[in-house]
Amino acid sequence: MRITDDRYNRDWQRFDLALRLISHEARTCTIRIWTGLSDDRIRKLYKSYLAHSGGVRVSRHRGKPPTQVNFFQRNREIRGQAAVLGGLYSSLGLLGLHRTQAEAPPLEWSELFCDAYETYLASEPLRKISFEHAAHLVWLLDKGTELELRECPGCDSLMIHDPLRVRRSVCTFCEIDRPLGPRSEFALGGQLLR
Ligand SMILES: [Zn+2]
Repeated sequence: MRITDDRYNRDWQRFDLALRLISHEARTCTIRIWTGLSDDRIRKLYKSYLAHSGGVRVSRHRGKPPTQVNFFQRNREIRGQAAVLGGLYSSLGLLGLHRTQAEAPPLEWSELFCDAYETYLASEPLRKISFEHAAHLVWLLDKGTELELRECPGCDSLMIHDPLRVRRSVCTFCEIDRPLGPRSEFALGGQLLR
């Protein structure tokens, strides 16, 4: 009986997670990997979600998840929002899982990830980072070879850093707040010249 209860609860956890992922327009392959549900069940959940969402429309994305690292360095807004997400990942203990993108993360981890993403949505009205990009970001930061989370040398706030970059960078706040001049150690584009 106990085992049956546990399985029942686990199944509910999976369905609940799948509905959260659908609401964030996660790709079908992500929902399948993170929940372990079949494509057929996911399709039925989409229908059920649309029927009970009170007119809220969600798109169903089927292709491959994003893979580009450069997206997170594209402009100051995205760099700043990626740093917010990175800070949430770090404070919620989401980094350090060391899984490949094809491996299923623990359900509890996935739920925490949704918490982090929903906190980001609540704090960023002009969101620039989709759920799938956010999921790619946590994987990149976990890997740490192409992007890493580190403290800004100008103000100690967290920022996204490219470890392969020769010149050190600063956070998006320091990019605009530090006065520029002949004696300034900062230059446009977030490059620390010292
Ligand atoms: Zn800074």
